[in-house]
Amino acid sequence: MNAQQPERRATVPVRIGSVTIGGGSPVVVQSMTNTDTADEMATVVQVAELARAGSELVRVTVNNEDAAAAVPRIRGRLERMGLDVPLVGDFHFNGHKLLARYPACAEALAKYRINPGNVGRGARRDSQFAEMIDIACRYEKPVRIGVNWGSLDQDLLARMMDANATLREPAAPREVMMEALISSALDSARQAEELGLGHDRIVISCKMSGVQDLIRIYRDLAGRCDYPLHLGLTEAGMGSKGIVASSAALAVLLQQGIGDTIRISLTPEPGGSRTQEVQVAQELLQTMGLRAFTPLVAACPGCGRTTSTYFQELAGEIQHYVRARMPEWKVRYLGVEDMSLAVMGCVVNGPGESRHANIGISLPGTGERPVAPVYEDGARTVTLKGERIADEFKEIIERYVERSYRRRAE
Ligand code: SF4
Repeated sequence: MNAQQPERRATVPVRIGSVTIGGGSPVVVQSMTNTDTADEMATVVQVAELARAGSELVRVTVNNEDAAAAVPRIRGRLERMGLDVPLVGDFHFNGHKLLARYPACAEALAKYRINPGNVGRGARRDSQFAEMIDIACRYEKPVRIGVNWGSLDQDLLARMMDANATLREPAAPREVMMEALISSALDSARQAEELGLGHDRIVISCKMSGVQDLIRIYRDLAGRCDYPLHLGLTEAGMGSKGIVASSAALAVLLQQGIGDTIRISLTPEPGGSRTQEVQVAQELLQTMGLRAFTPLVAACPGCGRTTSTYFQELAGEIQHYVRARMPEWKVRYLGVEDMSLAVMGCVVNGPGESRHANIGISLPGTGERPVAPVYEDGARTVTLKGERIADEFKEIIERYVERSYRRRAE
């Protein structure tokens, strides 16, 4: 791993099932299902898919009685499949009732996510919040106080706007809203502790949809508490826009040591896999040198020296191959996730990059001899040619893994 990692903000560790958030633990990747939780099988399939892709926590919506009743059955099925990924329940408005009426759901969940803006209106807000915290204390569950820009506690905002209006020099309304978000999170956390929830049972998030707003609010929040923080840009969007916006915001914060768990909230293409958000989160952490999950393939962008698409296809095929092999390698070898690979498009500039990777290959560019030199740990070891370059390169990778990484104890 990168020795130049940013110093992490000091936080209390919070245990969530088999996972620890904060307290210097590696940044945790999480995701959320988009199935109807009451549809038990569909939810089990998607949670399993997300967990196998590398999601270390999976959140499910618990929005009605059928969903609450399904949660313990979903937990049971996952366990029978050998998956102990902690499930987080997302509650809005009726969480106090569902948790009270469905104790098996309260027990099966590893954490409750409570949005202080969606707990209840008026006088009911405090009592319903207290009921949820009481259940969290009873079942010894941590809670994420998750404030959202789009569902800010309107009563709190109105009080803060009124107070601001009486000042000699009132702050701009947007400033008051930002402060209201942070206050909502910190006041709710304080309330939860007063109700008996442990300081080490609270995680906080303050999600925004604007990159600069998110950075600003988390910097402020990070300086005002030692709770672990969950990072995520809400409503990031689809495709490259969602990936770029989330990565831009989260990378700045992670580089400043802020953030203990992340989610990339991508809107999938219709029919697209939900696991893309997990892959992006992992790649963000890995390219920043904060964690390693699976060997990454570096590839040159290609230029006029490459007239065929073969090297692009090979780069994609090799990345797909190592991703598919990783579950098996991970249980057999230590540190294989740190392996780096390079697939380059010509033998003029390619070898330089190939030498920096653990294993690199440079394919012949336009007008070059049809041979592909392979470098292992900086030294040229073999030259491939002919129809079987891809297969032979995979065999080289397999042999490299076998001899370079220590076997785990059986
Ligand atoms: S490595 Fe070769 S093919 Fe790839 S971008 Fe550089 S010069 Fe072009």
